[in-house]
Amino acid sequence: MSTSFANVGSRRCSKPSCSKRAVATLTYVYADSTAVLGPLATFAEPHCYDLCEDHATRMTAPRGWDVVRLAPDPEALKPSVDDIEALANAVREIGRIEPADEMVEVNRRGHLRVLKDSGQNSIE
Ligand SMILES: [Zn+2]
Repeated sequence: MSTSFANVGSRRCSKPSCSKRAVATLTYVYADSTAVLGPLATFAEPHCYDLCEDHATRMTAPRGWDVVRLAPDPEALKPSVDDIEALANAVREIGRIEPADEMVEVNRRGHLRVLKDSGQNSIE
């Protein structure tokens, strides 16, 4: 967790159904039809909405508006990278299981090499 938010830790997500701690502030710049999502603002201003990490990530601008995301917090990005790596590792683990089983099968068949040898002998 980033300590930079400690001084504003009491602010909550502005979404009605959400009570998570706010980590970002969404500012609507009506003149430019631009929604600016940045670090939690120090001062609450008109047209500003504090958002939790989830809502900041999933936030989408109204139709016809641009979204500008300012300096994403590297700390906030880490979990998603870890998730992807964890998923990749999980997939690799699953992929490993089947070849491993086949290896066992091959090893178990090691004593059947006589059959293979006799086959080769018959070809010669
Ligand atoms: Zn929220």
